[in-house]
Amino acid sequence: MHRIGVLTSGGDAPGMNASIRAVARTALYHDLEVVGIRRGYEGLLEGDFVPLTRSSVGGIILHGGTILRTARCEAFMRPGGINAAVSKLKENDIDALVVIGGDGSFRGAKELADRGVKVVGIPGTIDNDMAGTDCTIGFDTACNTALECISKLRDTASSHDRMFIVEVMGRHAGFLALETGVACGAEFILVPELPVDLKAISDKIHYAKQRGKTHSLIVLSEGVMHAAELAEKLKGRCDYDPRIVVLGHLQRGGAPSCFDTVLASRLGSAAIDALIGGRSGVMVGRVKGEVVESPIEIAWTDKRTLDPDMLRLVDMLSI
Ligand code: ADP
Repeated sequence: MHRIGVLTSGGDAPGMNASIRAVARTALYHDLEVVGIRRGYEGLLEGDFVPLTRSSVGGIILHGGTILRTARCEAFMRPGGINAAVSKLKENDIDALVVIGGDGSFRGAKELADRGVKVVGIPGTIDNDMAGTDCTIGFDTACNTALECISKLRDTASSHDRMFIVEVMGRHAGFLALETGVACGAEFILVPELPVDLKAISDKIHYAKQRGKTHSLIVLSEGVMHAAELAEKLKGRCDYDPRIVVLGHLQRGGAPSCFDTVLASRLGSAAIDALIGGRSGVMVGRVKGEVVESPIEIAWTDKRTLDPDMLRLVDMLSI
């Protein structure tokens, strides 16, 4: 093995640059060449390659986004596209590939591994919806970004006696909503994993108001429904005219937190260790503080579930 490719794919996440840097610097440390593949699998199919050197990955560790850019690639989802990608890697003497992305990107990586390509996955998504790691790169930063925004909304909510419904990202998983909701002291956290009980929400808001509470905050995961839809359903059921805020892509940007930067650096380096050690078709993750390797398909075959203790905490602390 003498030349390694690295790409970022799917949704961008803060910390991806720190991960690219760690992959490149660890590989260079071991006298391996590193090729950056721009725009994920799309760039791989088009041969959009750039050599990565010690200096070309300098100054990016704390930058959000990804210097390699990212993309979603339909062509790569078909067998013809995957075979073309294998040929492209061979033509360019790329002996191994590091894929930084979410579970969709890992499914693509598994297809490559099944065709004999040496591949290691690094979990990078703000959704935290992948097994094989306690935390994906970008999740902590996205939580902090959402928290900062919600903290500002709380000021207005309490000054104007208002109810805010804040829609956060997370796709089909409620991790981002649960974490930020607990951190900002939301009265309700609505996640796709649990049914929505409109009566329970309006009753709780009503009793809280009777006890003298003058404002209310609901954190809603985008996988449940849109904030506007929930506001419509709650209108007339509670004593507020709910205001809505959709945080949207704000949550994907910004400089990575200390936690994400360290996680990205450790996992980036571990991915190269795995390849040097002859392992392929694996993902690297951090479980109970330790860096571990797991079969890449664990990311989607095992299902991460919401922590029941966190759910109980919401009930207890929001009275
Ligand atoms: P994420 O990696 O953040 O979950 P996506 O689900 O959009 O993002 O996946 C990113 C890219 O990975 C897709 O555009 C596609 O090129 C590739 N991909 C996703 N699923 C598969 C699959 N089942 N087989 C092959 N490639 C896939």
